[in-house]
Amino acid sequence: FSLIVFFYFSFTVCLFHMAINQFLFQWMDKYESKMLPETDARYQVVKRVVGHLSESNKDIPQVSALTWAIHVVDEPEVNAFVLPNGEVFVFTGLLNAVSDIHQLSFILGHEIAHAVLEHAIEKASLVHFLDFLSLIFLTMIWAICPHDILAVVGQRIQSKLQEFIFDRPYSRTLETEADKVGLQFAAKACVDVRASSVFWQRMELVETMKGEPRLPEWLSTHPSHENRAEHLDRLIPEALKIRERCNCPSLSGPDPRLIFRLNRQHLLESYRAQESQNSTNQDLSKTEVDFSHT
Ligand SMILES: [Zn+2]
Repeated sequence: FSLIVFFYFSFTVCLFHMAINQFLFQWMDKYESKMLPETDARYQVVKRVVGHLSESNKDIPQVSALTWAIHVVDEPEVNAFVLPNGEVFVFTGLLNAVSDIHQLSFILGHEIAHAVLEHAIEKASLVHFLDFLSLIFLTMIWAICPHDILAVVGQRIQSKLQEFIFDRPYSRTLETEADKVGLQFAAKACVDVRASSVFWQRMELVETMKGEPRLPEWLSTHPSHENRAEHLDRLIPEALKIRERCNCPSLSGPDPRLIFRLNRQHLLESYRAQESQNSTNQDLSKTEVDFSHT
């Protein structure tokens, strides 16, 4: 049985690498016309941040083994990801959503952590393994009671159970792990790690202002913005010690989390005042939120 499992996993990893290449081709094709040229200032910023993060963490073999290639896509979505082969994709929506280079460095540290920790392979292996087990389970059901309808219903129930009991909690665990390791990467690059929590608090504030419906965390593939900020707040003291050990320049000025907290109340109040002035038919999704002083 262990030999079957071994071949099964080897086959999964092989399929996975083929899927990455396929995914890369599809993406390059889809966003070809929206890729920023290397001469664009935004491309240069992303390149410098990734270069600085990888240089500061080159003692980690998985970091130095990869060649990081940058792709900046001109799309409003707040998104970034890194493929396991080191291809970094950043959307201009994310560049607009961060308020400084420290927040961007943390987010890219998080994405690099996903690649270094081989989360995509881990996830694909788990999904394939669960599919494999469910196939055995469904075959047994069908052997005992060979009705097609039972097989269809069984398959539906099994896929939903798998999604909510294994897949989504597992995704959230991987996100939390990438936050922790990404913060360490950022600390070694002398980033002001306190900005990491500010980024998620800002995202939470934007969501509150836009009145976007929130999924309960257990239904989501990602931890809630609030929980991410709290988790990072707990990790920041250790990350600050890493900064010190790396002989980074000491952080001057007030804590950005304190500034954000002071601004948050003011922003919410002015937003609500503005909202009550505007007509009830206003489309909230088009409202611009100015964060330039956070
Ligand atoms: Zn992530």
